[in-house]
Amino acid sequence: MPISRRSALAALPTLAALPAGAQTMAIPRIDQTTDMLGVIDVQPDFMPGGKLAVAGGDQVVPVINRLLETRFRHAFATQDWHPAGHSSFASSHAGRQPFETVQMPYGPQTLWPDHCIQGSAGAELHRELAQPRIELIVRKGFRPEIDSYSAFFENDRRTTTGLHGWLQARGVRRVFLAGLATDYCVAYSAEDAAKLGYQVVVIEDACRGIGLPAEGGTTIDAAKRRLSAAGVAFLTSDALA
Ligand SMILES: [Zn+2]
Repeated sequence: MPISRRSALAALPTLAALPAGAQTMAIPRIDQTTDMLGVIDVQPDFMPGGKLAVAGGDQVVPVINRLLETRFRHAFATQDWHPAGHSSFASSHAGRQPFETVQMPYGPQTLWPDHCIQGSAGAELHRELAQPRIELIVRKGFRPEIDSYSAFFENDRRTTTGLHGWLQARGVRRVFLAGLATDYCVAYSAEDAAKLGYQVVVIEDACRGIGLPAEGGTTIDAAKRRLSAAGVAFLTSDALA
């Protein structure tokens, strides 16, 4: 059923509180002063052929570019940025394989193939990503002893990246998220943003997930359930006006 612009606007304040499923009915109108797009880890190492390839990862680039060129005036990006020998790499743990889980001082940590090593080509922002409206690039995962999925906090869920302070200083109230991967860095960013009091929208067709096996399906299913319960809305890019 089509929704008029007026009713869509009226629905805005409660968008994040809508139950899962109903959220796709709302058509948010971008407010260029309080809305911002977050572009998560759009880096070659997460694309097909990269060191930690996400299936279809390259397909998010044109969708995000369209959002940057026609919808959002302001955006930030994150860049996974590890030193060689980072503790999240399976190669740093004797006898361990990528995608196994180990216990770190801050909790469980999935081990990954070596990826996004500082200064390497795979760690660059994707060369086709439209950058003029990306006003801040948050690098994360640079502390050797701790991983950082979220744009807001490292994996101890306490060490801040500083993004929250920047968004507050910019007057941002609603964060739209796109990029890679839906079930890790996008999901952790969305969850933290919601906890910090932002309204959060994940733009589903502008994201792709890794999809490791998880209880009741994959890590993508699990992330979507967790985020929906936290009040995060899921929309597709063509629903944004
Ligand atoms: Zn990483």
